Amino acid sequence: MDTVLAGRLGEIRARIQAAAARSGRESSDVRLMAVTKTHPREMVLAARGAGLRVFGENRVAEAAEKYMDTPADAELHLIGHLQTNKAKQAAALFSWVDSIDCLHTARALNTRLAPLQKDMNILLELNTSGEDSKSGYRTFDDLETDLEEMLLLPRLKLRGLMTVGPLTGDAGQIRAAFRHLRICLDRLRRLTPADCRLDTLSMGMSGDFEIAVEEGANLIRLGTILFGKRESRCAE
Ligand SMILES: *Cc1c(COP(=O)(O)O)cnc(C)c1O
Repeated sequence: MDTVLAGRLGEIRARIQAAAARSGRESSDVRLMAVTKTHPREMVLAARGAGLRVFGENRVAEAAEKYMDTPADAELHLIGHLQTNKAKQAAALFSWVDSIDCLHTARALNTRLAPLQKDMNILLELNTSGEDSKSGYRTFDDLETDLEEMLLLPRLKLRGLMTVGPLTGDAGQIRAAFRHLRICLDRLRRLTPADCRLDTLSMGMSGDFEIAVEEGANLIRLGTILFGKRESRCAE
């Protein structure tokens, strides 16, 4: 057992619990994703040892090296942009793709899943910050335009929405972005058939996860606060 990691995890869980309590939620509703990008496989093993089971990577090739023999109880999410030329590898490796932001990618993924007879959970990514550097659908209307066709892709199971909060120290602006995503999930629920299990609202990272939990996140994605600083920002 990695005691540094265990200690950090204990503090993080306490902060999640406090944030959940502030908004009248159960902290057991909040799942914690360990974002292991740029960190070595040993970190993944340490995180597993500390009891974490949900992992996120933003690059397919890097994830393939690190997670080649992923145990069945680990849930691996792709959280970075998916290029269609990586769709085949992604189809085989991940159980969730959280960063779908166009039909083109969704179709490519669906095509690659078919021969594997594998279903993939997906989240649609919405850009709630208006920052051009971020991926994701620019507006909910753009997302809605693709929705009908997205729902017809048989191997993709739409589970909810994902966003990256604005890069700012202004907590009010961050909160507004997260609140917007939650409202968008409600809108999405009204637009989808009842058998569509829209149960996932993925928002909140090391710097803003408490605000996200207060605003209804049930999947938060933590890298730095768990594993320390990443060496290079290029990999983000
Ligand atoms: C890197 C990354 C994270 C984790 O960021 P930290 O600030 O290190 O917690 C979460 N979500 C996405 C999409 C990322 O790319």
